[in-house]
Amino acid sequence: MEIDKEGPKGVTEEGRKVAAARCVEYKEAIQDYLDAKKDIPCGLDLTEKNEQQKKKILSVLGGSEEEWNDWKWQVRHMIRDVKTLAKIFPLSDEEKEQIEEVGKDVRWGVSPYYASLIDPDDPNCPVRMQSIPSIQEALDPSVVTEPETILYNSPAPCITRLYPDRLIINVTNACSMFCRHCLRRRDIGHENIRYAKESVKEALDYIRENTEIRDVLLTGGDALMVSDDYLDWILSELDAIDHVEIKRLGTRTPVVLPMRITDEFCEMLEKHGTIFLNTQFNHSKEITETAAAAIKKLTRAGVLVGNQTVLLKGINADKHIMKKLMQDTLRIRVKPYYIFHCKKLEGIRHFRAHIEDGLEIMEYLRGYTSGLAIPTYIITAPSGRGKTPVNPNYILNTNVDGQVLFRTWGGHVMKYDNER
Ligand code: SF4
Repeated sequence: MEIDKEGPKGVTEEGRKVAAARCVEYKEAIQDYLDAKKDIPCGLDLTEKNEQQKKKILSVLGGSEEEWNDWKWQVRHMIRDVKTLAKIFPLSDEEKEQIEEVGKDVRWGVSPYYASLIDPDDPNCPVRMQSIPSIQEALDPSVVTEPETILYNSPAPCITRLYPDRLIINVTNACSMFCRHCLRRRDIGHENIRYAKESVKEALDYIRENTEIRDVLLTGGDALMVSDDYLDWILSELDAIDHVEIKRLGTRTPVVLPMRITDEFCEMLEKHGTIFLNTQFNHSKEITETAAAAIKKLTRAGVLVGNQTVLLKGINADKHIMKKLMQDTLRIRVKPYYIFHCKKLEGIRHFRAHIEDGLEIMEYLRGYTSGLAIPTYIITAPSGRGKTPVNPNYILNTNVDGQVLFRTWGGHVMKYDNER
């Protein structure tokens, strides 16, 4: 093969000048982000700080390094009492009382691993806000629940069906952390439950009988809080149903309990054809070396990993923080899939941003960063009527003398020839 020192032809000197001027514009367009990004912490840069907290937690809980890496030890030692929590980071008497108060109504618990990511000096640490109860939960004066979603969308035990060709099997209500913003906080109750095998068998029968179902999501709670053997059994049953083309797992363990992603678990998944796993990173502080290692194992086993962020006020409802999160998830091989608008439910309203905030975020993703880093922004329709995308509008008029008037990501208003 010949070597051409000049590269592709067709660029004139004038063309180079125009390109250079455009590049100045491109750089200016993201300068605010480049400035802001320096102050947004990412777990990949905080390894040492997190290590110190980890040592402290191990000494409080009396565990070894080996035990730390054992997910069952992590689950057994989930931190769920104020006394232990106060040994890990400072809590005022008022905060202790408030955590106790909220915990009486809706349970809380955080894995030692996830607790090690909390910045003890920052009361607004995004990891802390997601895991430790705040009095705001109890101060919410309204009772806003959504019983219709469960009432009208479960045609068989353990199943939630909201769409034509896919459905959910709920396998457990257990989680390895009880996220403060969880939509299912009322269903999670105070005790861990694994739904009976008989009920899951009925769910599988329903899928067998309904041949339009090609996509099955196992979730909970957290689908990975049941044993490998149990998941292996459900996945094998699904493999044996011809019309089920793909299986999905809904789990937050890569974020809050990455040691759950063991070699044995990945070997088991590898046997089961096409598997997508969706998780929920909500802030770059959660993107750690340990999480990255877990994702690497999953991808090596052929599992495709996506991220479903929840738009959370005080945590990620900011165009720079969200962009960094999207870019950081890609760095560890996780594809941004959805940004969910937080629902108006009892106890979580202090986390709600406005739809305008979400739209602004989307506006500052498209064009300003790679398409790979751009998820779909979703509002969940009431009464279980499904996910609905909301987007900034780029089309200004669909017919101006036979042409479509639109605006580009960078604000140029242009016409697009829509004729054949
Ligand atoms: S892991 Fe998911 S289901 Fe469990 S508490 Fe968090 S958001 Fe809710």
